[in-house]
Amino acid sequence: MEFDRAGVRALMEITQRPELVFVRGEGSWLQDHNGKRYLDTVQGWAVNALGHSPANVIKAITEQASKLINPSPAFYNEPSIELAKRIVEHSCFDRVFFANSGGEANEGAIKLARKWGQINKNNAFKIISFEHSFHGRTLATMSLSGKPGWDRMFAPQVDGFPKAKLNDLESVRALIDDQTVGIMLEPIQGEAGVIPATVEFMQGLRALADEHKLLLIVDEVQTGMGRTGTLFGYEHSGIRPDIMTLGKGIGGGVPLAALCAREEVSCFQPGDQGGTYNGNPLMTAAGVAVFDELMAPGFMESVNARAKQLSEGLLVISAKWGMNGERGEGLLRALMLDQDDGPEIVAAARDRAPEGMLLNSPRPNLLRFMPALNITADEVDLILAWLDEILVKVRG
Ligand SMILES: *Cc1c(COP(=O)(O)O)cnc(C)c1O
Repeated sequence: MEFDRAGVRALMEITQRPELVFVRGEGSWLQDHNGKRYLDTVQGWAVNALGHSPANVIKAITEQASKLINPSPAFYNEPSIELAKRIVEHSCFDRVFFANSGGEANEGAIKLARKWGQINKNNAFKIISFEHSFHGRTLATMSLSGKPGWDRMFAPQVDGFPKAKLNDLESVRALIDDQTVGIMLEPIQGEAGVIPATVEFMQGLRALADEHKLLLIVDEVQTGMGRTGTLFGYEHSGIRPDIMTLGKGIGGGVPLAALCAREEVSCFQPGDQGGTYNGNPLMTAAGVAVFDELMAPGFMESVNARAKQLSEGLLVISAKWGMNGERGEGLLRALMLDQDDGPEIVAAARDRAPEGMLLNSPRPNLLRFMPALNITADEVDLILAWLDEILVKVRG
């Protein structure tokens, strides 16, 4: 198939894309318009929890599509009730609001926290977030994010998101005033380069929030849904947050996200929150299929076995090439390079023949791995073997 160079000009250029059109996907593999296959460690940015086009998600979507696509969020539908019940049963939360993207779920979290502040904390509205954090691309979530430079893009910002330093409890304490309503963070900063909040820090935040009557909000858009080896990332630190957002893996590739809250925080009243597509049965049916697979006997054990295999293999590569080790939890991991050649490695992996590999380098000095949670042991071995081969090519 020809690459449609004129055709792509009809699209807004929002990122630099290689001249490849992907036409097919199955599990950990993608195929482009030339028929070349790629081993995919990116999975739509940690979106395809079960890999590309998993059979159970296809079945759920096609069956639901032939029954009912959207009765409107003004009415109940079965799959959204089923998915909400599952999330509530397996988490510390009592109520769920479904959204269409992580950014939208985070907007909901900001609104819910501000509403709670109006009712319970004398209109307190500030949410402390963190340097280098990523929470989405809407105006408010860009302001909430701590990405360098984002405080000037699309100015003026949405007000009320002072930035603290991750894993520095005193930097959080110093920002608290009587307008503060909550603290919001990713249990592992994903886009920043897979930087985990420590267990002590998470526990310290919980204590600090309790001391000052603040809401602790976790953005688990990337870390939720089994990605870190537990169903939710907050479980690693044994704390109970007040609000959690989910996205990415929850829909197994389709646009679905969720805002989850404990009963005492769940203060939206009719008219406060909504959205035309929210909780539509087509997407939530996919969510139910993904959730049931994650809960299937042995599934999470396998995620953790593959995580151990990947972690150990990356450490071997790091030692061999004089790199700076690896970090992460579960199947959200980063290899810390000793030089800024991440983008070159990504390009060389993509260009590898006859089969390529899709890698991600959110920062030039590291590679991030977020493969399908059901990746096989052989495929993990292949990632490691190909990575070493590509390093020989790039670094000689
Ligand atoms: C990807 C991501 C988001 C944004 O989700 P979208 O679906 O792209 O809006 C928010 N928070 C975190 C932690 C993410 O990784």
